[in-house]
Amino acid sequence: MQLCAERIEINNEMPEVLQFDHDCLIVLRETLLAKTPEEGCAILIGKKKTSGVFFEKPLWNVRIIWPCGNIWKPGIFDFLGGRQNISNKKNTKKASKENRFFLDPKEQINAQRWARNHDLEVLGSAHSHPIAKDAVPSLKDIELSFNENLMVIVAGSGDVRAWWMSESKPREIRLLNSYLDNA
Ligand SMILES: [Zn+2]
Repeated sequence: MQLCAERIEINNEMPEVLQFDHDCLIVLRETLLAKTPEEGCAILIGKKKTSGVFFEKPLWNVRIIWPCGNIWKPGIFDFLGGRQNISNKKNTKKASKENRFFLDPKEQINAQRWARNHDLEVLGSAHSHPIAKDAVPSLKDIELSFNENLMVIVAGSGDVRAWWMSESKPREIRLLNSYLDNA
């Protein structure tokens, strides 16, 4: 995600609402959990609507789920220096794709190019926590969020929640599923 945030344009205005069009929420859940036991990844593409759409609050509208490979491998976060070791003492489970993710940078570029060509934007990313009940950011997710960014998490239980990540505490973003909820 950090690489994603660095490579992709960043809009630091936090949305109040994240709205999934059509079957996007179902597609996201199915796509990510199909990778179980590994963490699945996707890029969220859509539109940012900043006023007058939902009680005058910024609303981001997800229209396309762009599946993205999880290319995590040992040492992939080495470029971050010592920071990635902050919580290692607390981690009892061995690091693997079952509890780590890293979005394929090539897919991030492809997604951004496709979005631009279709008058859309990359809004953020999503990944799964295959064995989790609640879709909340892990300590590692928080540590590795250097830039403010939108992160959707899908838990193995099917729970889906959206978060505004930053170096401080993640803030939850309200989810809406389809335009019907906004009537
Ligand atoms: Zn995570």
